[in-house]
Amino acid sequence: MQGDAYLKCINPKCGLEYPVESTNVQCTNGHLLDVKYKKIPPTDLKEVFYKRRNSENSIFNESGVWRFRELLNFCQIDTENFEECSKYLVSLDGAEGRQSKPYQMSKAADFVGISTRNLWLQPEGYNPSGSFKDNGMATAVTHAKMVGAKKIVCASTGNTSASAGMFAANEGIDCDVYIPAGQIAPGKLSQAYQFGAQILEVNGNFDDALKQSLEDAQNHEGYTVNSVNPFRIEGQKTIPFRALEYLNWEVPDWIVYPGGALGNTSSCGKALMELYEWGWIKKIPRIAVINSDGASTLSDLYNGKFEDEEIRWNKGNPNTELISRYYDHLDKQGIKPKTKATAIQIGRPANILKGLRALEFTNGVVTTVSDSEMLDGMSVVGLNGFDCEMASGASVVGIKKLIAQEIIKKDDVVVGILTGRQKDAMLPVEYHQNPNNIFANPPKN
Ligand SMILES: *Cc1c(COP(=O)(O)O)cnc(C)c1O
Ligand SMILES: [Zn+2]
Repeated sequence: MQGDAYLKCINPKCGLEYPVESTNVQCTNGHLLDVKYKKIPPTDLKEVFYKRRNSENSIFNESGVWRFRELLNFCQIDTENFEECSKYLVSLDGAEGRQSKPYQMSKAADFVGISTRNLWLQPEGYNPSGSFKDNGMATAVTHAKMVGAKKIVCASTGNTSASAGMFAANEGIDCDVYIPAGQIAPGKLSQAYQFGAQILEVNGNFDDALKQSLEDAQNHEGYTVNSVNPFRIEGQKTIPFRALEYLNWEVPDWIVYPGGALGNTSSCGKALMELYEWGWIKKIPRIAVINSDGASTLSDLYNGKFEDEEIRWNKGNPNTELISRYYDHLDKQGIKPKTKATAIQIGRPANILKGLRALEFTNGVVTTVSDSEMLDGMSVVGLNGFDCEMASGASVVGIKKLIAQEIIKKDDVVVGILTGRQKDAMLPVEYHQNPNNIFANPPKN
């Protein structure tokens, strides 16, 4: 196994490689990196993964992330040996990814206009810190431990800091969290404090906070755990892995995500590229990314709303100048990302190029939804007895919109990812007090 995993620049014209112990989040030419594996994992591992659902007291089998460890084996360990695993793998007692799998939700299906058996919604909010971020944080902190990092650093719209703080506390390492002052849901900020993270308030938005955290991580030997870290992407591959496993590896027609920094979109794309290349799947689901109307960078660029050009990965030759001009345009016009769904209030998605690659590989689509639509999506999930936050509601109403536009067909099988649980307690209260909202159930007096 020695030397099986390494890092490689995603730009095919550059292609620089680095050893797996590298903590770079970019190649020297400023391109994003992928974790790559030389060995092809055999498909009979499907049975091994299934058997591990009977965990036999191993937290690494219980974990919905490490259960798939052979498909993200950047530690290059003897994966059958528990002692060996414990030395390397970071896990919150097996809780990351453990509870998340796709469910059928009849009221949500009625609302979006598809039959109940064709719609699967996967609540990632049932992770230990309450969002999908734990899938990727378990792997990023594993890599941090592998390279001996004493401090992890992130910028956050809330859930990243909750997750990073939780794993850092559990591993006994420091954690610095850069947040846009005043723009974090209280339920997320309080988690970062509770887990003992050091909060650094930035006057600006998430994009400004990320810039500052990346600079400070470099200057003060911090280990960055934002989704620009390729090891985050590895752990988040297990979100589609679990969906596929629960569907008996029968590939759905669509996988739908809310789009923020596009780490999730990127990891789904990488998971599908690998599974297809390795012969694990024969069909490729289409990815749909749902932006907020108020933070629609990917949608604007992908759908030709800026300079009439539809940006594409273009086999590794994307028009990056178009992206730069778009950002200049935002700056010049003073346009800031604005939505109440703060988890996706991001103007400069750090993983946009990996996101475009994912969309190209899967023949994906991008659309936008409004704040009030997202609240409806969030609320209908609740009526099925499941909990999710406003940004996750984007998956539900995004599916509804794409069905109405006949882009998603009525007999397509769709998996929507519900990225996090409710941490903004007043949102449902306000929603239900307003009788004009579709699902409102106002209080009586
Ligand atoms: C982080 C986050 C997102 C955005 O995910 P990206 O990978 O940044 O696109 C969406 N929803 C929730 C709840 C999140 O915490
Ligand atoms: Zn490069």
